[in-house]
Amino acid sequence: MKPNGKIIDVGVPFLLQDTPNPVCGLPNKNFPVPAMNITVDLHEERRCIANIIRIIMNSMSMTLILSILPGLIAGWLVNYLADVLPATRRFSQPVCPQCGTPFRWPDYLLLRSCQNGHSRTVRVWVVQIILLAASIITWIEPPSKLGYFLGMILAVYFGVVFVIDLEHRLILHPTSIFGAILGLIVGMIAHGIQPTLLGGLGGLLIMLAFYGLGVLFTRIRTKRMLALGQEADDEEALGSGDVILVTILGCIVGWPLIWLCLLYGILLGGLVSLLIVLWLIISGRYKTSALMTFIPYGPYFITTAVLVVYFPKFLALIVPD
Ligand SMILES: [Zn+2]
Repeated sequence: MKPNGKIIDVGVPFLLQDTPNPVCGLPNKNFPVPAMNITVDLHEERRCIANIIRIIMNSMSMTLILSILPGLIAGWLVNYLADVLPATRRFSQPVCPQCGTPFRWPDYLLLRSCQNGHSRTVRVWVVQIILLAASIITWIEPPSKLGYFLGMILAVYFGVVFVIDLEHRLILHPTSIFGAILGLIVGMIAHGIQPTLLGGLGGLLIMLAFYGLGVLFTRIRTKRMLALGQEADDEEALGSGDVILVTILGCIVGWPLIWLCLLYGILLGGLVSLLIVLWLIISGRYKTSALMTFIPYGPYFITTAVLVVYFPKFLALIVPD
């Protein structure tokens, strides 16, 4: 390097080696020589920028074409399962949530309105966009050892549980059975049998402890409500579905990362609850809606599990060790 910072050593043979670039740590392989000459020699770009451009060039053409269709199918599948499973518990014909009319398959497939003109919900589009993005990200950087397809199957499972828990406060048994099998397979491929089983067992025991506390809390609450002459409800602070979900997530992320998943999930849930309460206070609806606003914990645990599986580098930034 010259004192003015301009790189003069643009040695192409060095840049074509399959070794990390000392400037930015990105691998140097497969950069077309003319492109490298243009980027580095002609435009006097830094090698790091040249490598970023190389990665975008190499991945763009294949990635965009090959991952768009699976991404769209995955999004459609999450929407379909989240539409039919809570209602019928089987692969049935979806109905319009507004008028209850069964969708014609071509309309449903192409995300069109129902026969009575009710357009699809916002959730349908949000899910399509998120799963499409997930497909592209997973294609560019598949979760370690899992690869793209297992990564996408896991993404569909996470999506279905997330949406159903958020919309219905339910974690269904069919999804739990599927999740348990998937969790064992994913765990054993990603980190072997022992951390997988330990992770599942750890998640189960920690959640059973919380669940016990929740049952105790519910009993005290019911007694108080009956003593005050109010009708008792069967509201559970923590459902048995959450216990099963965390056991599955324990298998997927393994021991000891399940601790992190739980801790960050609870913190994230608390943070979002706080923001909702603040928003209710500001909008003057706190007294009427505060007790009605129930926040299921499943989505938060899934969010942290997604960070562990798909964005370990991001997680490494926020976790000191
Ligand atoms: Zn309709």
